[in-house]
Amino acid sequence: MSVAAPTRVSFRTAAILAFAFFLIYFIADTSLNLFAFSAGWTILWPLNGITIALLICRPKSEWLPMLIGIELGIGLGEFLDDNTLGSTIWQRVFSLIEVVVSAWFLPRFTTLEEWLRKPRIFIRFVCALVVGPLFSGVMAAVYFKITKGQAFFSALDDWATADAIGIAAIMPLALSIRSQEMLALFRVRTVWRTLVVLGMAFATAGVVFSVSQYPLLFLLYPTLLLVDSLLGFSGSALAVAAIAFLSVYLTTNAMGPFGRWPAGLPVTRDVAFQLFLGFHLVALFPASIMTLERRRMAAELVDRNAQLLLLASLDGLTGIANRRSLDERFSQEWGRAIRVQTPLALVMIDIDHFKQFNDIYGHHAGDRCLQAVAAALQAKVQRGQDHLARFGGEEFALLLPHTDLEGAMHIAEQMRLAVLDLAIPHRAAEGEQVTVSLGCAALTPAHGEDESRLLEIADAALYQAKSAGRNRVHGADSEQRVIPIRA
Ligand code: GH3
Ligand code: MG
Ligand code: MG
Repeated sequence: MSVAAPTRVSFRTAAILAFAFFLIYFIADTSLNLFAFSAGWTILWPLNGITIALLICRPKSEWLPMLIGIELGIGLGEFLDDNTLGSTIWQRVFSLIEVVVSAWFLPRFTTLEEWLRKPRIFIRFVCALVVGPLFSGVMAAVYFKITKGQAFFSALDDWATADAIGIAAIMPLALSIRSQEMLALFRVRTVWRTLVVLGMAFATAGVVFSVSQYPLLFLLYPTLLLVDSLLGFSGSALAVAAIAFLSVYLTTNAMGPFGRWPAGLPVTRDVAFQLFLGFHLVALFPASIMTLERRRMAAELVDRNAQLLLLASLDGLTGIANRRSLDERFSQEWGRAIRVQTPLALVMIDIDHFKQFNDIYGHHAGDRCLQAVAAALQAKVQRGQDHLARFGGEEFALLLPHTDLEGAMHIAEQMRLAVLDLAIPHRAAEGEQVTVSLGCAALTPAHGEDESRLLEIADAALYQAKSAGRNRVHGADSEQRVIPIRA
């Protein structure tokens, strides 16, 4: 019986985790606040996306110390950035609830490829984007309405939409940062291609968000799709994050189609811009998953085809090559032998008195005998170009390129001895064990000559070996003069 080990973390580990995250998030929050586009953080708030990614990468037992460190770190950063203590604490509580709710919707992260293939991943991704921020956004809006008299929907939008867009823009990147796919984008051979594609996407986004022409906005989605098809999920995660920050920066600096948003419209600049950005972030995700799935299926198909091709060339009973593969190889080697004018040898191998073996011991034993003989013969095939196949029934054929008759007969004799070594009992055979007879032929084919000639000579040699008493090797030269090796 096995008992699952408890996954509790020690106090020491918890303290280290909390302190590390406190430091990282304090630095991150302070730098974000110092960074020029502080007004842009109500459009896109990036830290929660990173937090959710971190949470789903770690066991739940580590969540509490991580979250304490994270919220204390951000809290200190916000407090020093002119927030009151009360407001800071409440906002941290809302934020903590948000990341836990969002992380709760998402499957545990293992590897990027596996995670993206989890069932209903797109729905869960959208739930994480919507439910967590909405939940905490409502609480925050109520709080801001009570304490600052802010309009409920404006406060809700400031909080929830910015967080949702931050999660959509940053979480995929945070999850793919250490993936194999991301590493592959930055190998020496691929890095230039990656940088050119990302640079192209970044430049396009730069134009779209700095020129005040609405039709240009339609360029963004095809650009992202192109990045996705060229660089995969990780590449598009990088592009999305970079473009999100760039577009927020340009828009908050009053540039591009959203920059000079007319006052007095029912929809404010930030909401319009967030809707636009949000659509792109959410719509890219399923397209990206589909591309990934298509790539995986294509790779699987290539694999399966290779397996099928291999299976189609093997004999089901013995596992060695079959007649079909021998025929193919025979005509290839025949053509080559004609071109380079070197001898090609063929050895036909036949089990002696096999019909009687079946009659005495049954077909099952016959099959096992065939398997044992095939394995013994195959063990004697040493050169990569030599090709042993089951020719049919209890016959095997061995094709030996660049080999003369003497060489073929040498290997044939080794094979005969290998079968003797098996010492399979056979009551009706001369030595009371299973033996094979082998017929060898070799010739340097001339132009226009048919490969069946070699087969006929090898067959004739086999016939001679059988009539001379079996369990022996015979060879025949191109004039069909028979050469016995062992009487
Ligand atoms: P010889 O020494 O002259 O070669 O006699 P033989 O009995 O080996 O030759 P024959 O061609 O008369 O018989 C071959 C037998 O091989 C007939 C068939 O029952 C058996 N055989 C062929 N294929 C298989 C197989 O896949 N499994 C089994 N168990 N037997 C097979
Ligand atoms: Mg036979
Ligand atoms: Mg036989």
